[in-house]
Amino acid sequence: MHPAIFLDRDGVIIENCPNYVRTWNDVQLFDQAIATLAKYRNSGYAIIIVTNQSAVGRGIITIEQAHSINTQLIEAIVQSGGRVDGVFMCPHKPEDHCTCRKPQPGLLLQAANELSLDLSQSIMIGDAFSDLLAGQFAGVRQVALVRTGRGAVQEQHAPPDALKEYSIYNTLTEALEDLLGPTTP
Ligand SMILES: [Zn+2]
Repeated sequence: MHPAIFLDRDGVIIENCPNYVRTWNDVQLFDQAIATLAKYRNSGYAIIIVTNQSAVGRGIITIEQAHSINTQLIEAIVQSGGRVDGVFMCPHKPEDHCTCRKPQPGLLLQAANELSLDLSQSIMIGDAFSDLLAGQFAGVRQVALVRTGRGAVQEQHAPPDALKEYSIYNTLTEALEDLLGPTTP
């Protein structure tokens, strides 16, 4: 069992799109995030992307299109020297009341089950309180908000009552440098 770094996709690794990321053309990589994933590729943590994509459930894009964007993102990360050990996606819309849409912990639990991850030693990083709650509900060791994407706006709001302790960083780079140490072990 190894620990994982769970990463939200939109707002953490790529720019958040107000009208949904529909095609690869909508994808704006955060260069600092991509470079950091390369730097920490041998950190001992599995790198797992957990992403809500309600555009699928709303009929805006197909599940195949969503998978294709994820596949191309993984390719871009790998080409830059990074690694992704799994992508877990909720395709539902909020009204579906599924168990995988963050803040529900389903995606993290599914990943832990399929990949034998040690949740108690894992970290969740997102740009929304709902990401942090999902991590907390899944029982991860630490949750962190980044100010990229929606994070800076989230920070202006009161956190949900259920949310316990969390850290805030400007970027994924700053988050990993603080949480894992500045250099690759
Ligand atoms: Zn779902």
